[in-house]
Amino acid sequence: MNEIMKLAGTITEQEKLSGKNPEQFKEFITKIPKAELHIHIESLMTAADLLKLNEKYALYPECKTEQDLKEVLGIKKIANLSEMIQQFLNIQSFIKEEEDFALIGNSILPYMERNNIHYLEGHLAVSSFVKRGLDFNMMMTSLDASLEEIARTTGRETGIFIDVSRTFGPENAMNNLNLLLGYLGTVEKTRILGIGLGGAEKSGLPETYKEVFAKATAAGLHYVAHAGEETPYTQIYETLEFLNPERIGHGVSAFQNEQIMEDLAESQIPLEICPTSNLLTKTFATKMENHPISTLMEKGVFLTLNTDDPLLFEVELNQEYVDVYRGSSLSFSDMLTLLLNTIRASFLNNAPKAKLLSKAEKAIQAGLADLV
Ligand SMILES: [Zn+2]
Repeated sequence: MNEIMKLAGTITEQEKLSGKNPEQFKEFITKIPKAELHIHIESLMTAADLLKLNEKYALYPECKTEQDLKEVLGIKKIANLSEMIQQFLNIQSFIKEEEDFALIGNSILPYMERNNIHYLEGHLAVSSFVKRGLDFNMMMTSLDASLEEIARTTGRETGIFIDVSRTFGPENAMNNLNLLLGYLGTVEKTRILGIGLGGAEKSGLPETYKEVFAKATAAGLHYVAHAGEETPYTQIYETLEFLNPERIGHGVSAFQNEQIMEDLAESQIPLEICPTSNLLTKTFATKMENHPISTLMEKGVFLTLNTDDPLLFEVELNQEYVDVYRGSSLSFSDMLTLLLNTIRASFLNNAPKAKLLSKAEKAIQAGLADLV
């Protein structure tokens, strides 16, 4: 490990003299086995998947190509988080029956393979599916079967959070948790890890979801929550106080306040940073040069790197690493810290986590030997 950081330090020194080489970095990072912890799995479907569903249901009969569909859906043309959530709900509305839902599970492995991801934790927002009459246990069974198949055929592991969602209020969130507990009571083995709180941040104070989180904790589930994606740093404090999540989704507004950055650095609670997503929802930065990731890293906050919604933002994990390296002031060494911390902050059990870390470190060492 020290050897790796020493070699990476040499590259960081070279960068200072001759600048970064993003092309070389891209080649390097592609070869490293990675983890991703914050991704909404509906967004792993591709435009081609949506086009098939569009043909099946004639939702937008005028759309004949993937490009037409992207135009109509306004992909990458959002003005803020609310528009993004609306777009996400639009994409979910393509899924109408069991056979369509299987597309989500089937889209996970190709994404992992394209980005050399060996462990992925994703969110599934069930509210609108349930409201449209899809059976909760059917969705969980379908997803668990896809995840089991990924593990059996490739050895890659996954875990899913059920997004209880604040877009539809606390009663709906509790209902989602109860559905999940009902499902978990019927199965011996599952890759559903617990709950996440996503959706419209401004619409619900963390305190409103206190009981949902308390119940999930008592049931022994993992629990994570979005905060500070579009709300000020005070909402990160409130989220920590009332919900006590194991990780914070985004948390970028922490850069607004010295004290919270000190507190986060001390507690080392991981933040799931998704820079491209933040640039497109435009709350705290519109250019990578100004994204708070560098400030947060400098202050010693525990950061992980993720994509949030590949379909909506047209970014995948390898590209996210390259874009952050190219656009921010983070060094080559910082990028490796991000990569390894993302594995460390995962909910993988100790033995497979140690195995993945060692696999990544070996690949990093081999890659560095070519560069230094
Ligand atoms: Zn998210």
